[in-house]
Amino acid sequence: MVNSWLESVHDRLFPAACRLCRAPARDGLDLCRDCLDDLPWLPPGCPRCAQPLDAGPGTPCGACSTRPPAYDGCIALFSYEFPVDHLVHRVKFGGDLALARSLGMLLRRRLRERGSPAPDRVVPVPLHPSRLSERGFNQARELARPLRAAGLRLDDRLCRRIRRTPPQAGLSADRRRRNLRGSFEVRRPVAGGHVLLVDDVMTTGATLDELARTLKRAGAARVEALVIARTLRP
Ligand SMILES: [Zn+2]
Ligand SMILES: [Zn+2]
Repeated sequence: MVNSWLESVHDRLFPAACRLCRAPARDGLDLCRDCLDDLPWLPPGCPRCAQPLDAGPGTPCGACSTRPPAYDGCIALFSYEFPVDHLVHRVKFGGDLALARSLGMLLRRRLRERGSPAPDRVVPVPLHPSRLSERGFNQARELARPLRAAGLRLDDRLCRRIRRTPPQAGLSADRRRRNLRGSFEVRRPVAGGHVLLVDDVMTTGATLDELARTLKRAGAARVEALVIARTLRP
C-alpha cells in the first residue's frame, strides 16, 4: 500500500514520456493512452495456450487437444509483434525497469479483471544464474513485482534454473522441448498449490511447459502462465 502510494506521488511529480511517441504518459504506465490502445491486444483465445481461435474462446485449440501442455491455462496480453517486441527488447536489453513495472501493472490489471481463481503464489520464470549475472536482473521478476500490490505472494526462490539452455531461436517446438528437459529445479515441495508463472514472451511455450511439468512433479495442483506477449502460430 505504501509502495503504491509512493508510486502515485512519484508519477504525479515526474510524469513520464510515452516510450513509443514521447507524448505524456498516462496512469503511471510509461505509455500514452493512444499508444496503449493501439498495441496488438489479444482477444480471449484457447484457455490453455492463449492462441486466438477462429471458433471463439472457450474450447482448447487443436494443438492443446492433441497434446495438452503441462500448464493448465495461459493469459497473454499481446501478440508478439511491433511495437511490443520493441518494448520487451527495451526492458530486457536496455534495462528499462520502469517500463517493466508498467507492463507488470498491465498484467496485474488483467489478472484483476479475470478474478478467481487467485493463485497461491506467483513464480517468475527463473534465469540461469550466469545469465542473471550478465543481465543484472531477471525481467520476469521485474514484470511480476507489481502483482504484489494485488495481494499476491511473489515466490522467486521456489524454482531455480540449473541448466543453461543454448539459444532456442529457429528451433522446432520438439527440439526446444528436448533442449529444456531437466532445466529447472523446484527447491521445496509445493503441496497442492496453485502456481502462476510469469514471463515476458511465450514463443512455443516449451519453457513454460517444462517448468510447469517440474512444478507438478513437486506437487503443484494447478499451474497457469501469465505473459506479456505470445508468438502466434500460423
Ligand atoms: Zn504514445
Ligand atoms: Zn491451445
